[in-house]
Amino acid sequence: MTSKAEGFSTKAIHAGQSPLQWSHRAVVPPLVMSTTFQQDGPAEFKDFDYGRSGNPMRKVLETCLAALEDGEHCITFSSGLGATTSITSLLETGDHLLAGDDLYGGTNRFIQNCLKKQGITYSFTDMTKVENVINAIQPNTKMVWLETPTNPLMKLINIKDVADSLKSHRQDIILVVDNTFLTCYFQKPLELGADIVIYSLSKYMNGHSDVIMGAAITNKHDLAKRLRFFQNAMGIVPSPFDCFMVNRGLKTLELRMQQHMKNSLAVAKFLESHPCVERVFHPYLPSHPQHELALKQTTGHSGMISFYLKGDERKFLKELKIFTLAESLGGYESLAELPSLMTHASIPEDMRLALGITDKLIRLSVGIETEQDLIADIKQALDACQ
Ligand SMILES: *Cc1c(COP(=O)(O)O)cnc(C)c1O
Repeated sequence: MTSKAEGFSTKAIHAGQSPLQWSHRAVVPPLVMSTTFQQDGPAEFKDFDYGRSGNPMRKVLETCLAALEDGEHCITFSSGLGATTSITSLLETGDHLLAGDDLYGGTNRFIQNCLKKQGITYSFTDMTKVENVINAIQPNTKMVWLETPTNPLMKLINIKDVADSLKSHRQDIILVVDNTFLTCYFQKPLELGADIVIYSLSKYMNGHSDVIMGAAITNKHDLAKRLRFFQNAMGIVPSPFDCFMVNRGLKTLELRMQQHMKNSLAVAKFLESHPCVERVFHPYLPSHPQHELALKQTTGHSGMISFYLKGDERKFLKELKIFTLAESLGGYESLAELPSLMTHASIPEDMRLALGITDKLIRLSVGIETEQDLIADIKQALDACQ
């Protein structure tokens, strides 16, 4: 399948998956577990030689992911942080990385602990203002890394503005956008000027909370070639079985994202109306300070919400019955967590408080259960925590 004009779910279901590719014509792509492939003569092989370097199922998944993103190249990794390892390996000793100040906890920890050893420096800045990005650029800055919406405060960064002003300053800086929170169904960073889109596929893309995997997608052949080399040379590869699972999860991505959007907006509106809630962050609420940008840059929002509670946070979390107290996000099931003690505990306290990640900030990953049940659950927990 080559046509770019086809709809999102058509691509999710068919891209790279024509049964004509395999002799038995299985409609579901075959899961090939073999780690090695027969050669016609020494170093004469068809598509694959050894499983770390490539595997039929991984190829199917990468083809499908690239099609969904309208990108040229997709390279998958054993986790989102595996993708981060590979992408930051594009940097050399002496280079500088500029990152957003409100990143996923694991990415923040990676930057603060794993880059120093390689002699790469870094700094963080609030990228909601484009001029901050330009002002923070150093002569040796080679990569800019951002997440939008940010986590957990759902601030938006204008990808196109950042990309345009970066490129007008310096052509050699690689712009990386983590699109895990919205997926390519709601936001297309490559079209807005990003060089690389990174995913934790462990979240919405797989959507069933049963696989850890990551991906990098790019239109730049030179970057793709180097990332492909790192995937193999560093050994940060996903298993064929996990590739099968993610490929299966993608089939319902459009349906799931539509339901996450519907449910999260309903929950956000309910939260906003409750006296025990101080403030709610959801980009599709008119009260969100960057609501206009949300409408311009995205076509919807996922299940991610955060809010400041007026009551007792431990009691609220304990009272929830449908929402499960757990880290992670993006599965069909609703989750609730306390970023200050859980997902964002690894961020230094001063930085955390400056960002507003207090003990009263609750983050929800609203799942695809029945809307009324989710609202009733939130209501009884709020009523109980006053
Ligand atoms: C989970 C997550 C990651 C890390 O991905 P893993 O698959 O857990 O390694 C990176 N970025 C964001 C936004 C995430 O939510």
